[in-house]
Amino acid sequence: MKYQSTRGDAPVLDFAGALVTGLAIDGGLYVPQSWPTIDAGDLARITKMDYHEAAALLIWPFVEGSSISRQALAGMAEAAYATFRHDDVVPLHQIGDDEFLLELFWGPTLSFKDVALQLVGRLFEHELAATGRTITIVAATSGDTGSAAIEACRDRDGIELVMLHPAGRVSEVQRRQMTTVDSPNIHNVAIEGTFDDCQDLVKAMFADRSFRDANHLAAVNSINWARVAAQTVYYVTSSVALAEQGRKVSFTVPTGNFGNILAGDIARTMGAPIERLIVASNNNDILTRTHETGVMVMDGVTPTTSPAMDIQVSSNFERLLFELYGRNGNLLSEAMDEFRATGQLRLPSDGADAFRRDFAADRASEAEVEVTIASVNDGVGHLIDPHTAVGVTVGRRLRRPGETMVELSCAHPAKFPDTVFAATGVEPDLPAHLSGIWERDERVVELANDLDAVESHVAAVTAS
Ligand SMILES: *Cc1c(COP(=O)(O)O)cnc(C)c1O
Repeated sequence: MKYQSTRGDAPVLDFAGALVTGLAIDGGLYVPQSWPTIDAGDLARITKMDYHEAAALLIWPFVEGSSISRQALAGMAEAAYATFRHDDVVPLHQIGDDEFLLELFWGPTLSFKDVALQLVGRLFEHELAATGRTITIVAATSGDTGSAAIEACRDRDGIELVMLHPAGRVSEVQRRQMTTVDSPNIHNVAIEGTFDDCQDLVKAMFADRSFRDANHLAAVNSINWARVAAQTVYYVTSSVALAEQGRKVSFTVPTGNFGNILAGDIARTMGAPIERLIVASNNNDILTRTHETGVMVMDGVTPTTSPAMDIQVSSNFERLLFELYGRNGNLLSEAMDEFRATGQLRLPSDGADAFRRDFAADRASEAEVEVTIASVNDGVGHLIDPHTAVGVTVGRRLRRPGETMVELSCAHPAKFPDTVFAATGVEPDLPAHLSGIWERDERVVELANDLDAVESHVAAVTAS
């Protein structure tokens, strides 16, 4: 399998190359040159496999032809999913006759980011050992990505990880999950600024070619192709399991950067029995608006109770745009330049039609999120987090008769205790393995929102 950039002007790479490169040098995202299909016999056997076996089987076609062997992939998948605290790894939890939650939060840091990053951390280490290289991963987080990346990379050979978060603007649970990790290769930086400031600093470091090369910078944010590949697995396993019960299966996905739902679209292309894929937005609804109008218009960001979905532009949407532009990197590159200049991108009309044919989209307000958290608790005595509640709100509204709706549950309710408590009067318990975050010392450096200061820190970490 080979990978090309969505903007058509970067070297073609294999899986391992796309893994360590992250963002292509033309500013595009790496995508496979063709889509694999799942063998019918494999599809029929998949529900009899352990999750890690299904993962190795389904991810292999994306990895094939790189330095990673099938056996090595299988070993890494087994180790990655052994860190999950549920026998089914990603259990289906039925909450209605035709309604299921797909719980993706049983990994070490309680969000769906672990599903991909537990594997990606191991893939990085494997590739670095094979090539004798070292890297410094630099990333920004508004919450869940930070702890998941730290947990995935801690104590791994060849990797230093510098994680920027906005000082005072992540929840205390989220901050302590990051800063109480006592590993010499983990470096937390609190930036005096917003999440956007943190992300701009990371982008500026990657855009500084000499700095990027000198410090062997690498990325683990959701544009990394390996994360999308790893996320295709649970769509296949859960849709097949429910289809075997004679159900017509659709998914509603609480969406931010479009990485999760994109994996669902790819799973469907590979042959998983998926009817509809529904994009669920909070008030930051650029994707729902694009779906309705065929024009992507940039707007500001409004903070909500589901911060992982508070995005201005969905970075992985570029991978779908590439398909909607007929896989023409030059056309997409022009469109993205125009989007950057004007804040607007009009989809080609057949592309807008295809987006509406292949996806549905809708939004949930803050008031609806609160009502949904309360109604699931009243109805089945189950606490859900506010991101899950966005998906449940939209999934319930759009479900058709005869359709089984699977709503993705992407975070444990204990990550967002205040919102859950406000809606239900119940305080969700933090799982026991995390209780140590309240006692352990925090390790974090505070820096100004200043590129020179942050680059000096990253260079010192790289040299250490
Ligand atoms: C990351 C995240 C999302 C958004 O997923 P995308 O792949 O960015 O669309 C939604 N909910 C939670 C809890 C998350 O951590």
